[in-house]
Amino acid sequence: MDYLGVVLIVATVATAFVVIARRKALQGRRVRAEQQRQLTLAKQAAEADVSAFGEELGRLAGGAEVDAGCGDEYDRAVSLHQRAVAALAEAQLPDDLCLVTEILEEARWTTARLVARAAGEPMPSRRPPCFFNPGHGPSARNIAWQHRNVPACAADAGRIEAGADPYIRTVECDDRRVPYWEGGPGYAGWARGYFKSWHGSRLIADIQSGNA
Ligand SMILES: [Zn+2]
Repeated sequence: MDYLGVVLIVATVATAFVVIARRKALQGRRVRAEQQRQLTLAKQAAEADVSAFGEELGRLAGGAEVDAGCGDEYDRAVSLHQRAVAALAEAQLPDDLCLVTEILEEARWTTARLVARAAGEPMPSRRPPCFFNPGHGPSARNIAWQHRNVPACAADAGRIEAGADPYIRTVECDDRRVPYWEGGPGYAGWARGYFKSWHGSRLIADIQSGNA
């Protein structure tokens, strides 16, 4: 092979490398942009939950519950809220929101205990969050819905038994609102965190795939 042939081969190989590197960089930018888009959407859902829980804490602080010997539980709930706020601020990827909702699940359980104790009611059993909207807090019982057995808050269980639709949490997906379990992979971490402590539990066996 003459000198010119070698030069041409080297030039062709070099050009191919440049093209591949550019494609990879473009692909990497697209992946990062898509992750950022998903993070923005899922963060909106997590932010709504964190702020709704903050409002609930405000209501409890103004009521009789905190004065009724439940100060420690209230402090615990406040501390969990602060941890959720920090985890939300630190989230870099959609999956990072799993930690935010895992903390919120415990926080909701803490205030459920607080309210029961203040009302002189028996301590509720610890249960997974309401499937229809985990932001509703701990479920009251499981109920049959669309051939599945799902945990539901008392209000949603009552609606289903009355023949009405439950209040399903919707999220933004492709410029429309859909039930959160149809929201795509960006919401997976956010939803998973709520049910993380219940992994393997028969109470959520019908929804563990996330495809209810
Ligand atoms: Zn509910």
